[in-house]
Amino acid sequence: MDLLDEFPSTEAEFRGRFADEERCRAHLARLKWREGFRCGHCGGKTAYFLPSKRVVYECAGCGRQVSVIAGTIFEQSKKPLVLWFRAIFEVTASKQGISAAELQRKLGLGSYQTAWSWLHKIRTAMVRPNREPLSGEVEIDESYLGGPEAGKPGRGAEDKAIVAAAVEKRGRGCGRVRLGLIADVSARVLIGFVQQHLGGDETAHTDGWRGYAQLGKTGYRHIISVLSKLDQTAAEVLPRVHLVFSLLKRWILGTHQGSVSRKHLAGYLEEFTLMLRIPCGHRFNRRRARRITHGAERLLGIAMATPPRPFWKIVGRPHPQGKARLAVAA
Ligand SMILES: [Zn+2]
Repeated sequence: MDLLDEFPSTEAEFRGRFADEERCRAHLARLKWREGFRCGHCGGKTAYFLPSKRVVYECAGCGRQVSVIAGTIFEQSKKPLVLWFRAIFEVTASKQGISAAELQRKLGLGSYQTAWSWLHKIRTAMVRPNREPLSGEVEIDESYLGGPEAGKPGRGAEDKAIVAAAVEKRGRGCGRVRLGLIADVSARVLIGFVQQHLGGDETAHTDGWRGYAQLGKTGYRHIISVLSKLDQTAAEVLPRVHLVFSLLKRWILGTHQGSVSRKHLAGYLEEFTLMLRIPCGHRFNRRRARRITHGAERLLGIAMATPPRPFWKIVGRPHPQGKARLAVAA
């Protein structure tokens, strides 16, 4: 199999290159067998594409058939790969993120449910494990998202989601960001969050909440800023992490009309972290590549290595609608 051609760099080139099933399938095959085809059964190095089966290759040696999308986020999808490629382009090229309704409209999908499940599958691939831990001095805080749903009295704190954030200090600006959905604000959970994202002997900067009190005993340098002065706000003491929270809430309000399902919040947080980009010279995560297709190229590679996530697994039960929605607290 030949080497990967240079990936298209503009939207027009992307559409041109991946305009038909054959080219999309060939691209996935090259990603799947980067070193060339190798039969998992007999070790054979030659395979033929079976045109009648859309995405299936047959080993020339033993006749075993293998789907190019088996074991990937595309597994079992009957929809054209062209649509999947476009969905990945739309999700990764959009600066503000994209809602399921928008994706449905852009792709002309008949069903909202399809757009919704694709979005979640793509987000699964956006989660990149084994990331380097944060380093240097890191601001850490937590914030509540959501609250009691209108018209449903008597629902309290259990409807709120708690999000923890860790933001690297880079001079006066920000470095990398990590967000996590946490169960509560106990010391066990908060210190677990810090240990998950912060290198061993770095510096954690928090407010005076007792959940953080033991951080200094777990190997971190710990800076505690207690809100002692009445005119001092948390945003002044921990400005970077509060900037991230306000941008997160604004993003949920803007892109998702203030309503995201609690169950999928972790995926949204991941997407938000990936696309964070702050004005005024703040730098978040890696700067977005200039090429608008960069995200799609990267995501296609990850998607081919990301196990499938069947719809029932995403929703946990048969129907995705009618779930508790989270409104964003002010
Ligand atoms: Zn074989």
